[in-house]
Amino acid sequence: MSDADSTAVTPPENKPQSAPPRPKRWGDEEDDPVEESTVSSSSVELNVGDLKIDEAKKINKFLDDPEDSNIKAVTSGDTPYSSASSFEDLNLSPELLKGLYVEMKFQKPSKIQAISLPMILTPPYKDLIAQAHNGSGKTTCFVLGMLSRVDPNLKVPQALCICPTRELAIQNLEVLQKMGRYTGISSECAVPMDSTNYISIHKRPPVSAQIVIGTPGTIKKWMSAKKLGTSHVRILVFDEADHMLAEDGFKDDSLRIKKDIERSSRHCQVLLFSATFNETVKNFVSKVVKDYNQLFVKKEELSLDAVKQYKVYCPDELTKIQIIKDRIFELGENLGQRIIFVRTRNSASMLHKQLVDDGYSVTTIQGAITPEDRDKIVKEFKDGLTQVLISTDLLARGFDQQHINLVINYDLPVKYESHEPDYEVYLHRIGRAGRFGRKGAVFNLLCGDRDENTMAKIEQYFNSQVTEVKNTDDAFQDALKAAGLL
Ligand code: ADP
Ligand code: MG
Repeated sequence: MSDADSTAVTPPENKPQSAPPRPKRWGDEEDDPVEESTVSSSSVELNVGDLKIDEAKKINKFLDDPEDSNIKAVTSGDTPYSSASSFEDLNLSPELLKGLYVEMKFQKPSKIQAISLPMILTPPYKDLIAQAHNGSGKTTCFVLGMLSRVDPNLKVPQALCICPTRELAIQNLEVLQKMGRYTGISSECAVPMDSTNYISIHKRPPVSAQIVIGTPGTIKKWMSAKKLGTSHVRILVFDEADHMLAEDGFKDDSLRIKKDIERSSRHCQVLLFSATFNETVKNFVSKVVKDYNQLFVKKEELSLDAVKQYKVYCPDELTKIQIIKDRIFELGENLGQRIIFVRTRNSASMLHKQLVDDGYSVTTIQGAITPEDRDKIVKEFKDGLTQVLISTDLLARGFDQQHINLVINYDLPVKYESHEPDYEVYLHRIGRAGRFGRKGAVFNLLCGDRDENTMAKIEQYFNSQVTEVKNTDDAFQDALKAAGLL
């Protein structure tokens, strides 16, 4: 069972029919061991920094400008694209503009939006591989793409977005529904149903929603049960695309879905979005799409400047827990929301128990709890009812909560088999803070040579300096001040 679709109470239809070897999954791996380009010749390279983007006022004065990112564009063929300095430049419908201004309260496109939206929205609707920093507004790019391509009079699925976790599918659907509020376009989430309102797939009518966002397991199931017709799908989006197309991710499911759609639909534009594309995935991904445009960021430029990275040496595991209690809870009390990443479900339960037994208020999310509990915990955190959340890598990617100021790596992210650092997951975890240019800090808790070695490799990989913080109140206070949080 994939992590995305894993549930404690699994409805019968969610079980795999045969028993193919289960790929390893990113997130929650340890306790569930079976789980987890080339540029076309006519390409023109242009430095997006040279494209003009209106230097309008900052979104609000607390934000650093997220526009300083250096995104390289490579376009295929000779379709001219010019960067959009305002949403008006994009020929969006009045309903969508209203959604952007009134509902979302956006003032102007972020850099990735300014560059990618003309590529997405201009015929002949080429495929796109787009990399941009965490928290830079990629969701808006593909949500506007989907909403713009739907024919409102046709009441069948026309746009599909596939995400690695139920949490991300739900979050993306919420953004789409808010942004598309005045369009009348219908949408539906394809994730495993919770046990309270479970209906067998065979008893359900075919999907008539015009946009479907979901996880690969459920989308595949709906398609093979002939409940999700794909003959009118004209845009297919993979969020967190590097993971969706990675060998140890959802590669097989993603390719299968893409192939099935291409078999029945005339022309389907494919959009691949992520903050990370390592070389292996990048090479593979460029073979998955056909005539495509691409936007890339160098890995050395991917760390967010607004998020300060720290490391704390801990003589033993107990010290880690003491740091969480004394510094992250007590000292961090006025710091807004905090997320603590752990590597395994066991680690999550152990830490949760230690904190709760001592009277600390914390919630925990991981793949083994029921979908209804997962939804509830995320909602409480998003509503600000809880301040500290422990999570496995289930929420490492994509989770957008603007009030997260602190990320704590209780365990560093390492690959399941090799125990080599998982660079991509590291970058995604720290990207849960510093959304859209906000300030943030990350504390990496290191215990033993292996952790120190992993940290050193991560620093080298991203060419970023991670500053040591001593385990004292003063040192933490100084670190938080230097991060602009105190
Ligand atoms: P990414 O997927 O690139 O990591 P998201 O799409 O989740 O980032 O966006 C991060 C945050 O920035 C969200 O809370 C979103 O509402 C906000 N955001 C996106 N675009 C804009 C914009 N143009 N103006 C203001 N805020 C924006
Ligand atoms: Mg995202």
